[in-house]
Amino acid sequence: MTMIDDKLQQVRARIVTACAATGRDPASVRLLAVSKTFGPEAVRAAHAAGQTAFGENYVQEGVAKIEALGDLRARIEWHCIGPLQSNKTRLVAEHFDWVHSIDRLKIAERLAEQRPADLAPLQVCLQVNVDGGANKSGVAAEEALPLARAVAALPRLRLRGLMAIPEPAADFETQRALFLRAAAVFDQLRAAGLEVDTLSLGMSADLEAGIAAGSTMVRVGTAIFGGR
Ligand SMILES: *Cc1c(COP(=O)(O)O)cnc(C)c1O
Repeated sequence: MTMIDDKLQQVRARIVTACAATGRDPASVRLLAVSKTFGPEAVRAAHAAGQTAFGENYVQEGVAKIEALGDLRARIEWHCIGPLQSNKTRLVAEHFDWVHSIDRLKIAERLAEQRPADLAPLQVCLQVNVDGGANKSGVAAEEALPLARAVAALPRLRLRGLMAIPEPAADFETQRALFLRAAAVFDQLRAAGLEVDTLSLGMSADLEAGIAAGSTMVRVGTAIFGGR
């Protein structure tokens, strides 16, 4: 068994335990393996161990990896999870399957315009800022619903839900409380009739708190691939 294989099994076990602790079905939480800074061979090893969804932060690095792993393209789902600038939207629209980090309409409009017609719709999440920090990425919680409505109306994109990255907290309850703010916004979108199904919360250090707050997708790098 490779080391990545071993680490993946440990992370899957953490997900199962965290689900059991809150009475959730482990099948309701997807694992996104965050492969940023690791090479294509690490992704290939994780794929061989059964992992099919991968997240990348830096657009050019991600595209280079997607191209290097062209033989696996139909079997891997690639997620762009990093901050997105206007000049990178075309690369994202042409290469990725998902984007988690939409925080303004302009970016979503560009992605919709640039998504090639022969590809499936780009699956998108809005990044919501639940700490209120003015310099942080993410739409303010109060502005999430109008942005979600506008994004849901765009062609060639499919709105799937929300992502949040609150500041790391010292304890589980504080972390869970921050994640619950994102979950409340998610409930608001659903109550407004938007068909969202994805709440992307939790990383290596806090996936249990994410799952306790209702996460349906945890984004895990270090615990699978090692330190960066
Ligand atoms: C790097 C990163 C992760 C993974 O973080 P780890 O602590 O290594 O698990 C998850 N989400 C985003 C947006 C990231 O940038």
